[in-house]
Amino acid sequence: MPSQAFRTRMHTPRFHCPLPVSAGVPLNLPAPTAHHAVRVLRLQTGTAVVLFDGSGAEYLAELTVTGKDSASVLPGPARFPAVESPLPVWLGQGLSQADKFDLVLQKSVELGVSALTPLALQRSLVRLDAERGAKRLAHWQGVVVAACEQSGRVRVPRVDGQHTLAQWIAGLPVGALRLRLAPEATLDVAALELLAQGVVLAVGPEGGFDPAEVAQLDAAGFVGVRLGPRILRTETAALAALAALQAWHGDFRATGPIIVE
Ligand code: SAM
Repeated sequence: MPSQAFRTRMHTPRFHCPLPVSAGVPLNLPAPTAHHAVRVLRLQTGTAVVLFDGSGAEYLAELTVTGKDSASVLPGPARFPAVESPLPVWLGQGLSQADKFDLVLQKSVELGVSALTPLALQRSLVRLDAERGAKRLAHWQGVVVAACEQSGRVRVPRVDGQHTLAQWIAGLPVGALRLRLAPEATLDVAALELLAQGVVLAVGPEGGFDPAEVAQLDAAGFVGVRLGPRILRTETAALAALAALQAWHGDFRATGPIIVE
């Protein structure tokens, strides 16, 4: 039977608040959040909501509708649900068609990703100029926040604007295991012993990495690994790898293995 706290988190509208939230301190919701609560969800005064500001805490709060498009909240005590994966995963995803990329973004947030960087690669079917890139980044940030609200996360993963491979590699954390997803690799992802403090995953676009990009990644310490013998679409590959990593080294196995006789 799920706990009361879990049921509350499942069924109570959750909102990300970009302002710091403090227990017992009334807060006017920022305009877009208030609009969503009052106009889209049509919540009434007295409704219980959950707020999180990305700091790792969340707050049960009571909503007061103060206008056609405005609302305030009174947050209760902070609570710290264990919903963030102990395994940091930084995903570099080849830029793909908009709907596919949105899918990877939304689902990778649900699967606990720490940060996601869109990579402009030779075989990416999509090219973004500066103006479209800025618009797309704002859209991606909205997708990430919505996925956090829905999935109960209390930290908001970083999503970057598009990067070249060289820019991404230059900013990567040191000490993480660097994996290049490659259908032709001979090493299976399940065979890896994880001794590092997290994983960096590089996933090719629809047409895969070109040979120069493979060489660039491998020179930066990436190891090619495969996810079974079938060719996966780019969006499937990223999500399968995240699920596999959570199962072997993250929080899909928080209770330890169960032996079924
Ligand atoms: N012909 C392309 C190639 O050989 O790379 C296929 C590209 S696949 C549609 C897109 C990306 O998904 C690949 O670059 C790779 O990163 C990843 N991928 C697809 N299937 C995979 C598998 N079985 N194992 C590991 N990665 C895979």
